[in-house]
Amino acid sequence: MRRAVFLDRDGTLTAETGKYITHPDALQILPGVLPALRLLTEAGFRLFLFTNQAGVGKGHLTLEMLTAIHAHLQTQIEAAGGHLEAIYFCPHHPNVGCECRKPKSGLLLQAAQERDVDLSTSIVIGDSIRDIVAGHSVGAMTLLVQTGHTTAFDPHDFPPPHPDQIFPSLLEASEWLISQS
Ligand SMILES: [Mg+2]
Ligand SMILES: [Zn+2]
Repeated sequence: MRRAVFLDRDGTLTAETGKYITHPDALQILPGVLPALRLLTEAGFRLFLFTNQAGVGKGHLTLEMLTAIHAHLQTQIEAAGGHLEAIYFCPHHPNVGCECRKPKSGLLLQAAQERDVDLSTSIVIGDSIRDIVAGHSVGAMTLLVQTGHTTAFDPHDFPPPHPDQIFPSLLEASEWLISQS
């Protein structure tokens, strides 16, 4: 079975601006991300987005606008030769206590069920320790990229689980992953 890679959005594929992205024009794809996604796709990985988008639950943007933002992202990824198989997002307000907001693993479990993904052989890539915790809890390999929330990961700053590997950006993480497979 082809291995799945779960990618965080903000700070991993796109710039972490510290503000909610409420329009496709505000989305800034980070340098090296489009080539990285093409390399992963060509290497046979199944790519999924998994992202917290509490801006919806907080009323900063509608589901329709989030869909438009993700369609815009998909278009650019496809134009560059990459392919996202599906996009999973948590639209809920953090206070709701849902099971899908990272660091919980609901989005990963949903994908596993709907898309026949083996999480134990999957890889989770994100810029936040939340991504790492979510991936670790389902037995996935976890890769931290230092392009968003964490620009210089110090294990003393966080209780375990810690990422299995740490990279400067998604391109280095992807090249390493491909070299291992
Ligand atoms: Mg992030
Ligand atoms: Zn949720």
